[in-house]
Amino acid sequence: AKENGRSGFHFYRNEMQQYATDRLKMEKALHHALERNELRLVYQPQVNSKGELIGLEALVRWFSPELGMIPPNRFIPIAEETGLIVPLGEWVLTEACQQLRAWQQVTGLPETFKCLAINISPYQFSREDFVDQVLKVFEQTQVDPSYIDLEITENMLVENIKSVAAKMQRLRQHGVHFSIDDFGTGYSSLRYLKYLPLSQLKIDQSFVRDISDDPNSYEIIHTIISMAKHMKLSVIAEGVETLFEKEVLTSIGCTRYQGYHFSKPLEKQALNLQLLQSSHF
Ligand code: C2E
Ligand code: CA
Ligand code: CA
Ligand code: CA
Repeated sequence: AKENGRSGFHFYRNEMQQYATDRLKMEKALHHALERNELRLVYQPQVNSKGELIGLEALVRWFSPELGMIPPNRFIPIAEETGLIVPLGEWVLTEACQQLRAWQQVTGLPETFKCLAINISPYQFSREDFVDQVLKVFEQTQVDPSYIDLEITENMLVENIKSVAAKMQRLRQHGVHFSIDDFGTGYSSLRYLKYLPLSQLKIDQSFVRDISDDPNSYEIIHTIISMAKHMKLSVIAEGVETLFEKEVLTSIGCTRYQGYHFSKPLEKQALNLQLLQSSHF
């Protein structure tokens, strides 16, 4: 490392500078994104073994006129660090609930449909007024909370489990469901899971991706599924890209799926059409 240290350092510094400017640009642009209507939600179908629609996951998209389309993996962390995640998260929740209401009233949702899933950032969740904020949105949009599935991550369960459980219980009393997203990748203690009002575990796509050639991934999924059965929780696999993956998952007891094999995330207009025609994926 020492021989090319000098040029390596310059290269590194340039990269760092570039990164810092990009980030600053993004941070500024993100401040305006909400008021300028640059955010949109897309919805990815969740299906049962027959391919019937059982749910939708709302996923946020940012179309910046200056920076182009920026994936959530890039701007969500910045929104979290800057606190913008709070208004952004509220926008996502409101928009998703309004859309759910519209589907229920206009196109109709199939009988098999259970929940609209919404991602909640740990920063959002940790706010004192989180529960009130969510209940306010339900009230404003007239949505039935039992059609809402909040996706939280394991890592947010580690800190202050008592307050986490209390918030979840309050929302659960209104009918809200909770799923643990990216299950298996975080640090949650299984002992805690028992005390939380959870409905579902979401098997992370990294395990699904390796299911055919990594015996460990297969074993992990197998373990998650039998554990979930014990705890009377549902399991959904995400990132299902092939029929083969679906079949392996089915053979070990998974009955809910989400992934490109069934459908990519869809714009609401595209989904409207699909819902009006048939809801098989
Ligand atoms: P996630 O919650 O784990 O969402 C699943 C991601 O996997 C989505 O990426 C989805 O488009 C993608 N995906 C779905 N099926 C497949 C598949 O078969 N193969 C592969 N390779 N990918 C698949 P996306 O939309 O880019 O979102 C990335 C992450 O950004 C999400 O991961 C979530 O953590 C975060 N995110 C997205 N929308 C929101 C939001 O509204 N609020 C918050 N707080 N986070 C969000
Ligand atoms: Ca998710
Ligand atoms: Ca996930
Ligand atoms: Ca993920």
